[in-house]
Amino acid sequence: MGCLVTRLLVLVIAFMDRIITNGKLSDYIPWSSALCKEDSDSLSGLGPKMNETVSMSETKRAARDFGGVYNQKPASVVYSESLDDIVRVVRKAASSDHLTVAARGNGHSTYGQAQALNGIVLDMSAMKGIAIQEEGVFPYVDVEAGALWIDVLRAALKVGLSPRSWTDYLFLSIGGTLSNAGISGQTFRFGPQISNVAQLEVVTGKGEVMTCSPQRHEELFYGVLGGLGQFGIISKARIVLQRAPDKTRWMRLVYSDFEDFRRDQELIISSPEHTTFDYMEGFAVVNSNDHVNGWPSIPLSPDVTFDSTLIPATAGPLLYFIEVAIYYNATQSMASLNKQTERKLASLNFIKGLSFSTDVTYVEFLNRVYREEIAARASGAWDAPHPWLNLFVPKSKIVEFNDKVLKEVLAYGIGGPLLVYPLLKNKWDSRMSTVVPDEDVFYLVGLLRSSRHGGPSVERLLEENDHILRICETSGMDIKQYLPHYKMDGEWRKHFGTTGWDRFKRRKERYDPLAILAPGQRIFSRS
Ligand code: FAD
Repeated sequence: MGCLVTRLLVLVIAFMDRIITNGKLSDYIPWSSALCKEDSDSLSGLGPKMNETVSMSETKRAARDFGGVYNQKPASVVYSESLDDIVRVVRKAASSDHLTVAARGNGHSTYGQAQALNGIVLDMSAMKGIAIQEEGVFPYVDVEAGALWIDVLRAALKVGLSPRSWTDYLFLSIGGTLSNAGISGQTFRFGPQISNVAQLEVVTGKGEVMTCSPQRHEELFYGVLGGLGQFGIISKARIVLQRAPDKTRWMRLVYSDFEDFRRDQELIISSPEHTTFDYMEGFAVVNSNDHVNGWPSIPLSPDVTFDSTLIPATAGPLLYFIEVAIYYNATQSMASLNKQTERKLASLNFIKGLSFSTDVTYVEFLNRVYREEIAARASGAWDAPHPWLNLFVPKSKIVEFNDKVLKEVLAYGIGGPLLVYPLLKNKWDSRMSTVVPDEDVFYLVGLLRSSRHGGPSVERLLEENDHILRICETSGMDIKQYLPHYKMDGEWRKHFGTTGWDRFKRRKERYDPLAILAPGQRIFSRS
């Protein structure tokens, strides 16, 4: 019976989908693909009975994530279909003396952050409602937190709109990235994804539903943005949109000298908007012909080869490349686009002859990592453990970091992309919870490594991560972890700094005093 109702719902939903995609409906209408859940009554009792409603495979799945390092089995998994489901689960946990609740977006954390050992994993994947508002001062999308960014992109493009700020990979949930920051090559212009949110609907750890924004309950609003899921479960977010371009000119520019690479990146992010690029990231690769770690991974299409004879004899163990993009519309002439490209490249000091360019659709560009996902799935690399390390390094220390870490420790490659690009602090609101270094410019350094079959073990890679953190510590580099993961009590306090930690703790006491939420972050424990 439950499933019959669900199927009818799906038909109604499909009909509403058509209305929305025709751009007629501007009010918020969720059209979640409701799951067949015969067991909704079980929400009334989250005791051991709850276990009977989920199969072992579901708890097993909820104990895993993209990182593959932690494996913490929950007592139960609840598929949330509505705001009410979230409220009921949080209130039930609050009324018990031990249960915790971890919202699970798409489970792409790397260190168990969306897991809840012996607690409840609240799977958000059915909450995918999307409604676009095209009119008004600024267009926006109201989106349920379980939706993926790819879903938002597809829905927005149907009416010629798009979010402004992205992550490299789009199969991440709204709730998951807004709990961290959400950064990519657009961050230098528009700030991280958390700087592009106008309003949130949140269920706090007390089970209260609160709509918050910069004007209303601002403490909760800024706390939740980058708040690692500690203050509430985001049920819905309002995200700023802009006109979407049709196409993207996507380029890679190669450097052998770190100083040139660094200077050009900093020039790009600090140039006036109309003279600079729409997207920029930087990468380091090994100066070798290794297909995963070396220069063969730089060209943008398989039919273009990398002429290694152009690498200067003075080059060290690493090469670097800047990846930039120019958005344009199909109506722009190639001649004017080529001129615009030339102008933007003119002041950059990359190795002449070692630049690569391709024109693709806007979607192909934004969804570029999906192509790699398909290849990685085929080779088994996607399912291998991913002991990633993401750091924010102050600009004043990036040269030292290159010398002591990139060139010394990582000179043989990391078995995946190695990101090195600068961000502007003034694009981050200091009231948000994400911690960034105290300098106007800081670099993201992302070691997106995987423990491939036949390569170093996950234990070895984790040891190497610790070794890198120790180098930063002993050299006084004052780095901050992005997507942070700590094991010891005092480390979180250090991460936030004394004032930041006091604020974070105060917010926790106010919105989740029993420490029910997001136990997998290992910041507070329910005792
Ligand atoms: P989950 O892993 O499901 O959850 C992450 C945390 O958020 C957990 O603590 C969880 O409890 C909490 N949470 C989830 N949903 C909610 C909610 N609705 N309300 C409150 N808390 C919630 N990050 C970037 O910034 N830029 C990138 O370019 C980028 N690229 C990536 C590429 C890949 C292939 C992968 C695997 C990750 C990437 N990340 C990137 C990291 C990613 O943003 C985070 O790991 C993010 O948390 C993953 O989203 P998710 O939906 O899988 O979250």
